[in-house]
Amino acid sequence: MKLRPEDFQSVAREEVAKTAQRDFVVMVAGVFNYLCDTAMGAYGDKVAQEEARSMGAQIRENSLHHLPELLEEFERNAIRNGIQVLWATDAEEACQLVKGLVEKHQVKTITKGKSMISEEIGLNHFLEEETGVKIYEGDLGEFIVQQRGTIPFHIVGPAINLTIQEIASILQQHIDMPYTEIATEIVGYMRTFLREKFEKADMGITGVNQAVASTGSLILVENEGNIRWTTSAPRVHVALMSIEKVCANYADAFHLLGLLTRNCTGQAITSYVSILNGPRRDDEEDGPEAMYVVIIDNGRSVAYQDPHLKEALRCIRCGRCGIQCPIYLRIGAYPYGWCYPGPMGNVIAPLIMGLDRTRDLYEACTLCGGCQSVCPGGMPHLELIARYRHMKVTGDKRFGGTRVSIKERAVFELLARGMQNPALYNSGLKVARRYINRRSQEGYVTSLPGPMSGWFVCRDFPQLPEKSFRERWREDLQREATQMASTAAVKQEAAAHSEEE
Ligand code: SF4
Repeated sequence: MKLRPEDFQSVAREEVAKTAQRDFVVMVAGVFNYLCDTAMGAYGDKVAQEEARSMGAQIRENSLHHLPELLEEFERNAIRNGIQVLWATDAEEACQLVKGLVEKHQVKTITKGKSMISEEIGLNHFLEEETGVKIYEGDLGEFIVQQRGTIPFHIVGPAINLTIQEIASILQQHIDMPYTEIATEIVGYMRTFLREKFEKADMGITGVNQAVASTGSLILVENEGNIRWTTSAPRVHVALMSIEKVCANYADAFHLLGLLTRNCTGQAITSYVSILNGPRRDDEEDGPEAMYVVIIDNGRSVAYQDPHLKEALRCIRCGRCGIQCPIYLRIGAYPYGWCYPGPMGNVIAPLIMGLDRTRDLYEACTLCGGCQSVCPGGMPHLELIARYRHMKVTGDKRFGGTRVSIKERAVFELLARGMQNPALYNSGLKVARRYINRRSQEGYVTSLPGPMSGWFVCRDFPQLPEKSFRERWREDLQREATQMASTAAVKQEAAAHSEEE
């Protein structure tokens, strides 16, 4: 299934109709939210939790503020550790660099740790097409998604939307697993299947959770052990990281990782934490002979130069914002058409894929702020989304935005003028009310033509009251004034009577 953000609306319509999937995802999100809140409780009460989050945001701010220097420091120390550092300006160059390494080391088989940046640059597809190399995702959820040919449904639960029957069928169809609906049997089969791949792979490819500038180390977190295998068994290890993944030192890295795992799976820390300081030394038994890190820009430095858009690089990929988002929970990941679903995708995708292509993403946001309230990286989702909308309207060329059409601009221009002029506003309202109410049946309007038709795809509209709030308010005031005047007149008359007597 080829998914693209341009197809957001049609895919969303299909996904929203899958009520069983939707209910399941809402239920899972509830469980994860509970686990994450409980895990955050380890910092203390709400104030202490907020402080922990603020400290995370501060670390991200410092890292971004010093990004060029930190990247250079990381490169120097990584090279000192024996890691070869490569730089890629875009997805194409990153893929070509990895292809060069595949050829140089005569690689036939690759195992991978789950890596969003590899999804972002489309590495699997590229390498399979260009080199014929066989790639096995090592994370079970990611492996299932890879066989199915879709994108991950959630950043940490790539296949959470699939039923056990669907998973069993996919694995039966693609790797001849004997059909079973018993989860432990599936996991047991996959463990044996993947272990053999890990042992025989020539190259391991992973992402990076944090790169530590002061030591040139890479840190990766996981729960399944696949990353430990991928980074230690094959002859060559290639780590892919986007430029913003660097931080100053271990203290910063571990504070962010504590926030990451607590907001991701609700764990204080994951089952495995790998700290990689270069390829195998002469006196060591495990580890790759050669180790590379590919640092990928892919549009980020353009955003980095803008003081507001730079904020989008704060994300540490915990995925917590997704399970807060009322839109994501109803439509799931596929409509976003890319590897970063939900609010995370809303802020990252427009900067990398362009404002036009991703328009529906940042427009399908209610600005409820649920995402922003939990983000451990201090991401200002709301400000960014409002900015993207503005950039789209004004046609910001740096990020692939074309100005909205003359027709659309004219409509909003007219609306803005009408809203600023009470006389125009009131007469417009009267005309609209008459027009809408003429189409109502039994107190409800169920369809309107033109640009309003979209509203009625899945909702109706109660007939508009005959008078607006302002008209009724004015009438009430007048009635009150008349009553007060007549009461005053009666009192005056009564007073005059008593004086006469
Ligand atoms: S935007 Fe914030 S909450 Fe969302 S994935 Fe990134 S760090 Fe986590």
